[in-house]
Amino acid sequence: MAAQEPVHHRLVIVGSGPAGLTAAIYAARAELAPLVIAGVPAGGQLMLTSDVENYPGFPEGILGPELMDKFRAQAARFGTTFWDAHVRAVRFDRHPFELDAGSSGTVLADAVILATGANARWLDLPSEQRLRGKGVSACATCDGFFFKGQALAVVGGGDSAMEEATFLTKFASRVTVIHRRQELRASRILEARARANPKIDWRLSSEVVDVLGADRVEGVRVHDDRTGAVETLPVGGLFVAIGHDPATEVFRGVLDLDERGYVRTHEITRTSIEGVFAAGDVYDHRYRQAVSAAGLGCMAALDAEKWLTHQSE
Ligand code: NAP
Repeated sequence: MAAQEPVHHRLVIVGSGPAGLTAAIYAARAELAPLVIAGVPAGGQLMLTSDVENYPGFPEGILGPELMDKFRAQAARFGTTFWDAHVRAVRFDRHPFELDAGSSGTVLADAVILATGANARWLDLPSEQRLRGKGVSACATCDGFFFKGQALAVVGGGDSAMEEATFLTKFASRVTVIHRRQELRASRILEARARANPKIDWRLSSEVVDVLGADRVEGVRVHDDRTGAVETLPVGGLFVAIGHDPATEVFRGVLDLDERGYVRTHEITRTSIEGVFAAGDVYDHRYRQAVSAAGLGCMAALDAEKWLTHQSE
């Protein structure tokens, strides 16, 4: 069989979370007829979230997957094409750029927006996976509000864990930080703030070995690495704050990434390659919110459109 001819799009967007789909809405309305290579499963991190109460415009809240369906329908309405596929390899050293999406085909692109996001790291306990969205969370800003008056646990010893624990004391009766080493990794200032908070308890040199509860988190089993004792902490929620991994494996060696693998940008959305832009958690490890990712998607689409116009002048 003859190899399939590559299709050609003015703009290809890689990723279909809030950043990628907002970029698609803007680009489609600018008549760029973008192609979104959506990833499998499509929709990004919100597909793993239940109630979203902080996305503006939904005063009653909305389920994460339902919100992403709406984003996608809005992008489709203005002429976005979707491939539910992964990008396997990219050639950004030639123009038009070339993106290989496996059995879906190869696409040539005049401009590209990278919006592949980042994934929270998990402890990889079966009970943790089972109770994700049912008391196990990786985002205190998103979910803290649901735990008013409850005792909570936070795992991790970095800045995120300190920030999340401190933030959660607004809602929780008590917060226990569980960290696998005796020393914290966090910056002094965030550690000092957390240490000074009377609502925070510490379980250092300790590891969560199980999450308890049938349909909701009811407690965690904690192993003290110094004594070998295992104890049950009765908590209504477990916040895992052990870092994120950007989904940039396929771009390694192709464009500039920082030491943790996040895409390096300048002027907000521009990557080290002219005509390749980035939006959302693939470079923003600071805010990591659906609404901030959507805002960055909008900016990337406007920047890409301007760049494409300039190229054709
Ligand atoms: P991080 O600095 O990589 O810290 C991750 C923490 O999780 C570490 O304490 C690590 O333990 C622990 N950990 C990793 N894998 C684990 C596992 N499987 N089981 C148990 N514990 C595990 O990640 P982060 O806190 O998300 O911060 C990421 C970056 O963002 C950092 O550069 C941080 O400074 C920055 N940040 C800054 C701010 C701020 O300035 N306001 C806020 C948040 C994040 P070990 O210490 O033993 O390795």
